[in-house]
Amino acid sequence: MNQLIWFRNDLRPYDNTALCRAFDAASHKGSVVKALFIATPGQWQRHHMAPIKQNLIQRAVSELSSSLRAIGVQLDVLTVNYYEQIPEHLVSYCRQQAISGIHANREYLINEIDRDQAVSTTGIPCHFYNDALLVPPENICNQSGQPYKVFTAFSKAWLSRIIHDLPTIQLLPEQTAIAGNNPIPSFAPEISEQLQYQLALWPSSADRALQALTRFTDSDSQSSVYDYHKSRDYPNLDATSRLSSAISIGLISVRQCLQQLLSKHGDACWDKSTGPGCWLNELIWREFYQHIAYHFPRVVRGQAFKEETDNIPWLYDDDRLKAWKHGLTGYPIIDAGMRQLSQTGWMHNRLRMLTASFLVKDLHLDWRLGEQHFMENLIDGDFAANNGGWQWAASTGTDAAPYFRVFNPTTQSRRFDPQGRFIRSFVPELSQCDSNEIYEPVRRDNYPPPVVNHNQARAEFISVFQNIQEQKNKQE
Ligand code: FAD
Repeated sequence: MNQLIWFRNDLRPYDNTALCRAFDAASHKGSVVKALFIATPGQWQRHHMAPIKQNLIQRAVSELSSSLRAIGVQLDVLTVNYYEQIPEHLVSYCRQQAISGIHANREYLINEIDRDQAVSTTGIPCHFYNDALLVPPENICNQSGQPYKVFTAFSKAWLSRIIHDLPTIQLLPEQTAIAGNNPIPSFAPEISEQLQYQLALWPSSADRALQALTRFTDSDSQSSVYDYHKSRDYPNLDATSRLSSAISIGLISVRQCLQQLLSKHGDACWDKSTGPGCWLNELIWREFYQHIAYHFPRVVRGQAFKEETDNIPWLYDDDRLKAWKHGLTGYPIIDAGMRQLSQTGWMHNRLRMLTASFLVKDLHLDWRLGEQHFMENLIDGDFAANNGGWQWAASTGTDAAPYFRVFNPTTQSRRFDPQGRFIRSFVPELSQCDSNEIYEPVRRDNYPPPVVNHNQARAEFISVFQNIQEQKNKQE
């Protein structure tokens, strides 16, 4: 009888807990390890997964298949539409392959938890491992035994756990390769030539992702992580790791990220005012939002974290939404960000914050419309990080930006795109503007007039939110 490693969001052969445990179990029982990936195009559509991300997964699965052959494991791929169909197909696959144990790394969102529970009841022994997070959600709570709702307190508790119990990288025993190759069925939708070109720029194998991590975290003072805290907010600089797509499908593990940081930068990692410490803090945000989605599943069901904010009378105005999606709002920095998303499948963090704030606080549209559009286009779409980011920007989330903090797109772009280079590269209509006019939302011949007046829209938003807040205070 054989052991099965079921790959999901962990498409790497290195430092993969479930893969190592499958090998351990096989060696005790004198059996072999088989590997499986199940593509679920219908489910991915329900989850609004971007076509470019599905194509990244397609490539990553092919690369994984070759890497696994080098360690003697054959990867099979099944395609079923929805999670509900998985138990039936998995049971029949396990029968054919004489599988006596399934090993997989845990996922923490409700649909995935339900899927794994359904598989656990099929009678085949299933083993689920903590792997995707450095600290699993059950392992951090406040003094009253409740999950943290505020990032600063969460991050303190998270750091003290990590410092006392540093996670170690998992190594596989030596294995013998198997010859030949294994064709992988195609399961991703077609994408435009432009997006195919963009896709090729992102790592799709564990080796390439690891090289990118190694370069980014280099101990050399020229490396990007060294100056990360100073440069990360400037979209025109290539100053962030761009590892989000690799992390979101598990081409690299967060343990590998931490291990590289620590081995090259030592104690600087614990200090947020350094580049390495600031980067680690972003990885902690990732963990925080995963914990929130796990402990407060209402956010996964489309509800606001702060329940009272579900009473806000959001607009559902198609013209406003279209202008935002297509980068035609008349606000140069917002349009540049939205065009970066549609043309490349990725957007810089500062622009995610600005464009999200603009949709909610200037256009007064429901934040869920923007959240969905991001998922439908991002190569690194990750439910917890995206929902967390949107609810932060909309002031509806845990530890969110206060409702009266409304980004001014003009002053933000002067500050973070000081020569207007980023705007020029994505809004060519403005390429001839001098560095004073380029930021201004004013009427121009070849560019739309501003879709709203920022100051007026800001005042209206604050007044609506203030009312909601006052009603809540009265009820308490
Ligand atoms: P780096 O700056 O190098 O950060 C390193 C890693 O830390 C990232 O790769 C990511 O895994 C994690 N990270 C960084 N910032 C955050 C954050 N604020 N929250 C959670 N994790 C973070 N990130 C996603 O991975 N997927 C998303 O779908 C996503 N949607 C977002 C939506 C909004 C509205 C906002 C404001 C942020 C969103 N983020 C999302 C977080 C962040 O913008 C991206 O992780 C980051 O821009 C990716 O670029 P990078 O890999 O160069 O990041």
